[in-house]
Amino acid sequence: MKYDAIVVGGGPAGSAVAILLAEHGHSVLLLDKAAFPRAKICGEYLSPEAARILDRLGVLKTVDAAGAVPLRGMRLTAPDGTVLEGRYPTEGPYRGYRDHALAIQRLHLDQILLDRAKALPVDVRERHRVVDLLLEGDRVAGVRASGPEGGAFDVRSPLVVGADGRQTLVARRLGLMEAHPLRRMALIAYVEGLGDFGDCGEIYVDPPDYAILNPVAPGAVSLSLVVPLEHAAPYSGKLDAFFHARLKQLDHLWPRISAMRPLGPVMALGPLAYRVAPPRHAEVLLVGDAAGFYDPFTGEGIFAALRSAELAAEVAHGALRRGDCSRALLAPYWRARREAFRDKERVTRFLQVVIGRRWLANLVAHRLARRPDLLSLLMGVIGDFVPPRALLSPRLFLGRQRS
Ligand SMILES: Cc1cc2nc3c(=O)[nH]c(=O)nc-3n(C[C@H](O)[C@H](O)[C@H](O)COP(=O)(O)OP(=O)(O)OC[C@H]3O[C@@H](n4cnc5c(N)ncnc54)[C@H](O)[C@@H]3O)c2cc1C
Repeated sequence: MKYDAIVVGGGPAGSAVAILLAEHGHSVLLLDKAAFPRAKICGEYLSPEAARILDRLGVLKTVDAAGAVPLRGMRLTAPDGTVLEGRYPTEGPYRGYRDHALAIQRLHLDQILLDRAKALPVDVRERHRVVDLLLEGDRVAGVRASGPEGGAFDVRSPLVVGADGRQTLVARRLGLMEAHPLRRMALIAYVEGLGDFGDCGEIYVDPPDYAILNPVAPGAVSLSLVVPLEHAAPYSGKLDAFFHARLKQLDHLWPRISAMRPLGPVMALGPLAYRVAPPRHAEVLLVGDAAGFYDPFTGEGIFAALRSAELAAEVAHGALRRGDCSRALLAPYWRARREAFRDKERVTRFLQVVIGRRWLANLVAHRLARRPDLLSLLMGVIGDFVPPRALLSPRLFLGRQRS
């Protein structure tokens, strides 16, 4: 069987790019090493703008029907206990595709997206691990994969899309991975017994840590704790004990969660941040986490995976139609990607500075408490539908609190 494109990985990025390429009429092979539904360590928050892409992919109604929990904002608690009720803006110049974010277990979201790909002319093979790339000179000619029965086989195609997440074999094999100076680890568990969340998620900033609570299903909450990697490293093998001990140290979080009951094991992941350089080879693209990851504080990973898939599919479609997936014809993807994420990345880097310093986190919280207009705009930026530039408007800085 001949394919126009091979997609490595069937997470949100891989399924989305496969769906969009198939809708353009291209034949696609999607390989994922996992058997779905499969778990994924994630806070399971979907920014309001992610809904636009889910709708474009034809799955938004299914995601809603699967019990996705609408979240109209985030309740943020600063180190000194100042509480900010951050709501997504629902009036003014910027409106989200929807006025709320979603919380949904990845077990369901990723299955829904993969099912959508299966409903199209996409050859989806679960339990198929890509073990190598077929490199011919300066191009990626295909992949070597192994299926559930073992035994490797080669598949060739004019384009290989690396959507294989943070473990990305595609980027590693091409020598593109770079370590990041931000060294953090996440510990995540599902818990119950936390009572009502209303229509908000909750974030507790307590430098050097922060914790996020997302109500992902009736009675079930995803609890993430992010800590410096070096603090967790001595406890490898005892991460469960470290997780609970550390949670108790977060003064404003612990009273909120002390009655929690675990619904599953503690899962851990770190280091969280890494960089990936654009490939020097032709006939290859990287989307989602395979193209880099920073930090989950602002929760845009799934949106970025879906958006990068949209950008990649558009460029790949043009290149495939011309029968030329050279670096030059794929380069617009990297430019579009940089353009799409650069400003938000600046905001997230700034927020990392803020949440890393107790005095600064308190100062910013006090300022935002007095400026609900600014807080709402910031929520829109975090929600991926307000351009970060809006935060720099002189009118905003000179403006006074609206009543
Ligand atoms: C602690 C933490 C919390 C987070 N919280 C949030 C959040 O609340 N909201 C949010 O939007 N984002 C969050 N993120 C980020 C989000 O999880 C990722 O950005 C998102 O999963 C990226 O999707 P993806 O499709 O690129 O990769 P993945 O979802 O990781 O999918 C990659 C797929 O590739 C497959 N694969 C890997 N290697 C191979 C191989 N060799 N052969 C075949 N298949 C392979 C895997 O099985 C997997 O199915 C969080 C991340 C972390 C680490």
